Amino acid sequence: MSDERPAPSEASEPDTAPSGSVPGAERAPNFVADLVDDDLRAGKHDGRVATRFPPEPNGYLHIGHAKSICLNFGIAAKSAKGTCNLRFDDTNPATEETEYVDSIRADVRWLGFDWGEREHFASDYFDRLYAIAEQLVEDGLAYVDSQSTEEIRKGRGSFYEKGKESPFRDRSVAENLALLRKMRGGELPDGSHVLRAKIDMGSADINMRDPLLYRIKHAHHHRTGDRWCIYPMYDYAHPLSDAIEGITHSICTLEFEDHRPLYDWFVANARMEHRPRQIEFARLNLTYTVLSKRRLQELVEGGHVRGWDDPRMPTLAGLRRRGYTPEALRAFCDRIGVSKKDGVVDVALLEHTLREDLNARAPRAMGVLRPLRLVIDNWPEGHVERFSIANHPEDPSYGTREVPFSRVVYIERDDFAEVPPKKWFRLQPGGEIRLRGACIVRCNEVVKDAAGAIVELRCTWDEGSRGGAAPDNRRIKGTSHWVSAEHALDAEVRLYDRLFSVENPSDEKHGKPYTDLIDPASLEVLTGCKLEPSLAAKKAGEPFQLERLGYFVVDPDGTPERPVLNRTIGLKDSYAKIAGKT
Ligand code: ATP
Ligand code: MG
Repeated sequence: MSDERPAPSEASEPDTAPSGSVPGAERAPNFVADLVDDDLRAGKHDGRVATRFPPEPNGYLHIGHAKSICLNFGIAAKSAKGTCNLRFDDTNPATEETEYVDSIRADVRWLGFDWGEREHFASDYFDRLYAIAEQLVEDGLAYVDSQSTEEIRKGRGSFYEKGKESPFRDRSVAENLALLRKMRGGELPDGSHVLRAKIDMGSADINMRDPLLYRIKHAHHHRTGDRWCIYPMYDYAHPLSDAIEGITHSICTLEFEDHRPLYDWFVANARMEHRPRQIEFARLNLTYTVLSKRRLQELVEGGHVRGWDDPRMPTLAGLRRRGYTPEALRAFCDRIGVSKKDGVVDVALLEHTLREDLNARAPRAMGVLRPLRLVIDNWPEGHVERFSIANHPEDPSYGTREVPFSRVVYIERDDFAEVPPKKWFRLQPGGEIRLRGACIVRCNEVVKDAAGAIVELRCTWDEGSRGGAAPDNRRIKGTSHWVSAEHALDAEVRLYDRLFSVENPSDEKHGKPYTDLIDPASLEVLTGCKLEPSLAAKKAGEPFQLERLGYFVVDPDGTPERPVLNRTIGLKDSYAKIAGKT
């Protein structure tokens, strides 16, 4: 018997042009918001708008949930009398844990939404739901079935085959009530009986063939403890929880569309005062990403990632640790819009939106990932100068900072070539390069160790180039970032790439489990990286750009003296190319 929620279908055909995702368009069409507006104009629901975000606390929230959160809270916020509840849908005692409740609260708050006092648990309604069940029995609309799970499943029929009525379907109200109370009282073993709605076994709609309301489960619940040994089914608890809370618009994903008649049946027959309207929208799917809690859980439990908040995970905890900003996620949700058409959004659109946000807001700093020593022979030993460098190239309000410079600095290994290819603008033997905001240096000698590896470059600086400008206006094509060796912070830097090496890891056609499609290069750890000293003051979650390298954040694994950085995203944007293609 399908005791829980319907499984979503995972669309696998990439659709790089999700409805309305025009780059630059800030808000794509949102048919749910339009429907709510129509209802308001028509004077429905007494002019109220009440939505809810109903996570099941059995895992961490992911970016798909962010779409639902932005939609539900966003619609409520648009209306003067709008409210949005946070409701933990904790009807299943086996899987729900307090850890998840806490993480969900933290994630919704971080994303920028506040539910105030409006926090609820479906388990708070267990008494009420049970009372309604007794009432349905009294009204002749529910009965206790004593068939086995297998018999019930078979009796349900299929799309092609009608259902068969249970031999227990015509029990008297008194007998049903007595049995239900025994179920409730703990006298009956798991699986021996269920409570079913008495609707229509001949219905073309399989969901209407006497669906289950309650099953016996002698299990401990994270909030109600051992008070209950029968638990309501999702299809029963969800509409009634909505109605109890006075929800006007119950927004859910498309896999619930087929359940809408049942949703309405429960609300109507439970004689609820409020009649919420269920509206279904297409869930978010992303290329190179899996977005199902079950799969994410497998990634964590199978040790394929470091945890729910591994920066490669599409969980909000992972994205936050990676350096995603709530602003970027909200902008992304606005951009993809809300429709009824299933599709897959190109993850490059998410990355593009993130870059736009970080480019505008992240202050700049310098760090060297793969250091090469550069010694300036005509710079006095022990002499330190502090160069003033702008924190943001376009926004003077970010101010400047003083970056110390001394006789030995590090530059990026990639910024020097002993035998340069054609059109090489960076440093080479006998050539010059500008050290950003500091001065111009010339490479005079390449020092190597016994094995022939480059140890350091011996250079001289142009004493007229203080601040980085050439005194005679001669053309210096290359500019390197740098860090003074004696002032540098020694750091570990974690470079991330997309977790999966294929666009559609959930697709069966690969012929192997999606966990075999993980890209081993999705995490590269560099140690001995050198950072300018101002970065010691950065706190986790404060984004910054390392010039020419990308956007970074401090990871909680590090300390101010020995920081660990996560590269949030590189600077190169592939989205413009993709958008141009469509
Ligand atoms: P999953 O399918 O990942 O297990 P779920 O639907 O079981 O997620 P819930 O905790 O029940 O997880 O989801 C809470 C809300 O978030 C529901 O209203 C659900 O429809 C919505 N939601 C879940 N995944 C997505 C998604 N990918 N896109 C949009 N909304 C989603
Ligand atoms: Mg679900």
